[in-house]
Amino acid sequence: MRDDNCIFCKIANGVIPSETIYEDDMFRVILDLGPASRGHALILPKQHYKDICELEEETAIKVLPLAAKIGNAMKNSLGCAGFNVVQNNGKAAGQTVFHFHVHLIPRYEEGPVMVSWVPGEADPGELTQTGDAIRSALQSEGHIQ
Ligand code: AMP
Ligand code: ZN
Repeated sequence: MRDDNCIFCKIANGVIPSETIYEDDMFRVILDLGPASRGHALILPKQHYKDICELEEETAIKVLPLAAKIGNAMKNSLGCAGFNVVQNNGKAAGQTVFHFHVHLIPRYEEGPVMVSWVPGEADPGELTQTGDAIRSALQSEGHIQ
């Protein structure tokens, strides 16, 4: 499915031009127009999925191997020391374009890129309560016994 009002559908399917670094029948990988570092790329499926929760398994299983291939090429071509794989779901998580995509952010030794959060302190009782809540949702959705 494609969404006529979605900019990433248009980019992924070549309706809007982009700096494409990779393309196959399911994905286009482009350079981000607001890069966190040199080479910041986005993996875009050609089909429209709002976020990871909508993603079909057939597409999902190809995403990480593709991220590894592109990341490796970034290390070999750009000389980055590593790279982050980042994927945002929902406005609260920083998602601004509601077409599933994966960020590949090259990291250079001196780079100022931050992918971070402030660590809290886990309370053992609260951990159990939180674990119970998620486990029972997984159970009622039939994902665990
Ligand atoms: P997110 O915040 O995870 O939804 O990421 C959206 C990303 O898309 C941001 O890093 C933007 O800089 C990038 N972006 C938005 N529009 C375009 C575009 N037309 N071409 C390339 N990158 C874009
Ligand atoms: Zn889309």
